[in-house]
Amino acid sequence: MKPQIHTTVGFGGGLLLYRFWGKVEGIFFFLGSVLLDVDHFIDFIWRTKCKNLNIKHIIKGTYTFDMAHLEIAPGRKDSLCMFLFHTVEFLSLICLVAVLIKSSALMGFFLGAAFHLVLDFVDAKRKKIQKTYSWIEFIIRRQLMKKKGLDPDGAQKEVLNSIQRPSKRPE
Ligand SMILES: [Zn+2]
Repeated sequence: MKPQIHTTVGFGGGLLLYRFWGKVEGIFFFLGSVLLDVDHFIDFIWRTKCKNLNIKHIIKGTYTFDMAHLEIAPGRKDSLCMFLFHTVEFLSLICLVAVLIKSSALMGFFLGAAFHLVLDFVDAKRKKIQKTYSWIEFIIRRQLMKKKGLDPDGAQKEVLNSIQRPSKRPE
């Protein structure tokens, strides 16, 4: 889902919490609903094998990669997405720490991140994009796809090739 939508909806949710729970909790809800997408940058860096760590390149590259992937991923069997923080394992960890240290701010962050995850889940289902929200499920499904002769990164590799092609042209 586009970051603009998460920012807008997260802001609305944050305002509600700000009003009915607390100022800090509302702000952290907003932060959780927006910052969860940081892992998209990690995904891009990993896919491009850390070749260029320039911040501008990473931000622009990630956006271009994600938008192009969204175009071709619907219905593709050779594409399985997972983002490190968009997982039940990561969210459980945040929730556990919030409870252990009794931090309502971190709990607000957790709720914002969980809200983000639900929106992404519904969006991916609607667009028929194969996504997983668990580290364990990701490993298992990748193995099953490979057994069937499918490349779990097929669509992603295609996108990467198409967006990297122009920069490979001789000057
Ligand atoms: Zn997301």
